[in-house]
Amino acid sequence: MDPYMATLRGLRQGDPISPLLFVICMEYLSRLIRSMEDHPLFKFHPRCKKSKLTPMVFADDIILCCEGSFPSVYTMLKAFKLFSATSGLQISEQKSDFYTAGVSQEVIQRIKAATNFAHNKLFFRYLGLPVCARKIRVAECNGIIEKMCARIKVWSSRNLSYMARVTLVNSVLLSIHQYWAQMFILPKSVLKEIEKICRAFLWTGEWNSSKPGNVAWEHVCLPKQAKGVGFRQIQTWYVAEIAKYVWAISTKQNNLWVKLVHEVYVKDARWWDYEPPIDSCWYWKQICKVKSKLKLLYSEQEWNSLTKFSVQQVYKKLIGEQPAVHWDKLIWNRLVIPKHRVIGWLVMKQRLRTLDILVKIGVQALHSCHLCEQGIENHNHLFIQCKYSTQCLDLVRGWMGMKNQHSIFPRQMLFIMKSKRTGVKKRFMAAVFSGLVYQIWWVRNEAIWNHVVSKPEFIFRKLKQLIQQRIRLVLPHKITARDQLWIDSMLAAV
Ligand SMILES: [Zn+2]
Repeated sequence: MDPYMATLRGLRQGDPISPLLFVICMEYLSRLIRSMEDHPLFKFHPRCKKSKLTPMVFADDIILCCEGSFPSVYTMLKAFKLFSATSGLQISEQKSDFYTAGVSQEVIQRIKAATNFAHNKLFFRYLGLPVCARKIRVAECNGIIEKMCARIKVWSSRNLSYMARVTLVNSVLLSIHQYWAQMFILPKSVLKEIEKICRAFLWTGEWNSSKPGNVAWEHVCLPKQAKGVGFRQIQTWYVAEIAKYVWAISTKQNNLWVKLVHEVYVKDARWWDYEPPIDSCWYWKQICKVKSKLKLLYSEQEWNSLTKFSVQQVYKKLIGEQPAVHWDKLIWNRLVIPKHRVIGWLVMKQRLRTLDILVKIGVQALHSCHLCEQGIENHNHLFIQCKYSTQCLDLVRGWMGMKNQHSIFPRQMLFIMKSKRTGVKKRFMAAVFSGLVYQIWWVRNEAIWNHVVSKPEFIFRKLKQLIQQRIRLVLPHKITARDQLWIDSMLAAV
């Protein structure tokens, strides 16, 4: 550009003006290549003929495609040389490769000699993502699993509460969905491996444990209102992500990929009834498979009338209607201390590892309740009949001014839920009862492992203090004066 503009100094990476200059340069390159397309020696790649696709540029990564003949490659290279001479931007020969399909060895050798590029088999990384025509092999995904589970592995040496683990697993599963699943299909065995690590970590705190969990994984992966923890079912989520492409093809979204797919595969066929040819690539077949799944749930008209695609909505439809419990709003509410939530959830599902369950799976000998030394320890005993629990419960009832007799925790929750109290009051009470259940479980574990049983008064005092701290921290600002008064009076009694 020298004759036209005098250059005084160079640009550094990260300079705010550099993207603009870059776009101008790339525009010039695109135009050069466009002009080359009319050259008699140049021929398009057979699949790009209609869309006249040659360069794909993202930042300084460029993919160029053309027919696998020497004259075409040579013409393209000449255009590129002209670009280099004009702009001063050079191709890095070490970092460039070329890939061929159905091209003779002789032509490959000529291209190699003319370009100095390495000839490689089709599997490369573009912007950090693997690009290949076949299904990705499990071995090629090892890095991905490593990356995704790195955090879990780091944290597995720490002593984390269930809730902390739930959060961590959720963030890992979420990040898989949001990043990888949008772009390509991971093999099933890889997804299973990720699930295995998450499951082991959730229940044991170690990523490589094979002990069974308290609740089956498919039940954990249900929405909260359907008694789950709200994790996503990875494989179903994948289907929902791929459904996005099915939708894009249906509604002919304005992007390069959709145009290409229509030209190469769908052509004049009706997409909704389209069947992929046997020799089409694995990815395309997967997309068509997802379409057949969607056909069971949506009518063509319904599907095409979706003006905006939401992965979440399709996912919901895929997992289907689940019978809703309503206690999830109490158990997982913000006023409940985080580490009390998962224990509360397990008690609601009667899935804590109480002695009766441990005896059943053969890891412990039969023993009477460690808190009262009377009766067999199971959920009903521990949270209703046990003398110790009843004493704690009476103290809590006295504090809250409650007269009802629903001593068992799940029933207590249902009672709170159905009562005519305001939302804040209900959530406050849920926090207290979840805390109580947590404390009883804690005392029970102390009794087993350390042979100490704290007095109910001590537990009650501890619970009140914890609740006071929590409520002061997270109580919403916008509550009615009456609720505020009630909560103040509750906390004042601490
Ligand atoms: Zn007992």
